[in-house]
Amino acid sequence: EDSPAIKVCVRVRPFIKEEVEGQRSGGECKLCIDMPSETQVRILNFDDPDDDSRAFEFDRCYWSHSKDHPFFATQETLQTELGEIMLEHAMNGFNNCIFAYGQTGSGKSYSVLGGKDEERGLLPRVVEGLFDHFAKLPQGATYKTLVAFMEIYNEQIRDLLAPADSEIKKLEVKQHPVLGTIIPGLTEAAVASCEEVLNLVDYGTQMRHVSATAMNATSSRSHCIFTFKTSLTEPDQPSKVSQTHLVDLAGSERAGRTKATGDRLKEGAAINQSLSTLARVISELAKSAKTKKKPNPPFRESKLTYILKESLCGNSKTVMMAAISPNFTDYDETLSTLKFSQSVKQVQTKAVQNAVNMS
Ligand code: ADP
Ligand code: MG
Repeated sequence: EDSPAIKVCVRVRPFIKEEVEGQRSGGECKLCIDMPSETQVRILNFDDPDDDSRAFEFDRCYWSHSKDHPFFATQETLQTELGEIMLEHAMNGFNNCIFAYGQTGSGKSYSVLGGKDEERGLLPRVVEGLFDHFAKLPQGATYKTLVAFMEIYNEQIRDLLAPADSEIKKLEVKQHPVLGTIIPGLTEAAVASCEEVLNLVDYGTQMRHVSATAMNATSSRSHCIFTFKTSLTEPDQPSKVSQTHLVDLAGSERAGRTKATGDRLKEGAAINQSLSTLARVISELAKSAKTKKKPNPPFRESKLTYILKESLCGNSKTVMMAAISPNFTDYDETLSTLKFSQSVKQVQTKAVQNAVNMS
């Protein structure tokens, strides 16, 4: 828990209806993932007998492919192991970030947002936990929560909580001498209950679909960042402030794999700008962790990496959730996700308890 490294987890999803019915990846279902332990994952290459198994080590591997497995993990498991720790950090004045990485259809949104009831993902569960915690505070304690929700599409930041009829503002990331990375003009809504937050998330998710449809795109092409800031003051204790990001990244599949033309091509190029900058930032940070030389990562070359700068090497406790497909037809993408995740494991952050702001 005290390790400053980015914690890297992998989760493998079940076969989905589209695979079983043949609409996805030619309709073949062939399991190529194996988890010999809770920290190991193997990928099997059925096409090459000499390369029949590649093993990777991670902080935690979640088997969500089939229930009969010893390491079967539900949404509840993720909340217990990841969500509750994020909450504890936030309540103690530490910044957090969790980002879901993987190809389209690998289970990123399922882990972050999830579905209804038992299928609720980390975001709604963490928010519930937050307000449960507040409800149990001793008399005299005061707290405040602000939430923001945005997407990055074609290197443009879109405020998902802006009123529907408002003019679309061009939002930019800025560096503030005291506050760090900020986005002037981004809506930060003060919220007082879990229900209020979940209504905002629903609203933002709808906004996302509306804009995607208008642009003839799909939401798998944009990065989505949900942020909450908390400040908490208990009697006779210093105030604790924190910021937590939950990030559902765009699909990591390479643009070349699907036939892209015109707008779609531009889209692909822009996704690559944010994701490929992320890859270069990670590679630079990982390299410097080895050589002990001061890194010079190109954070400002994409919106995503600029916004997540602190989460990637600064004051934050950060978790990467790598979502992978179980299916052999996705072998290449899964292998590249696992290799990328391996490099993220070397990156160190510098989480410290936030100084209290005097406002
Ligand atoms: P992504 O956001 O990476 O594109 P999704 O989260 O939308 O992928 O997942 C693709 C499909 O797989 C969805 O139908 C989702 O409900 C299903 N799915 C993903 N992960 C799981 C899981 N752990 N358990 C059950 N269904 C899952
Ligand atoms: Mg998704």
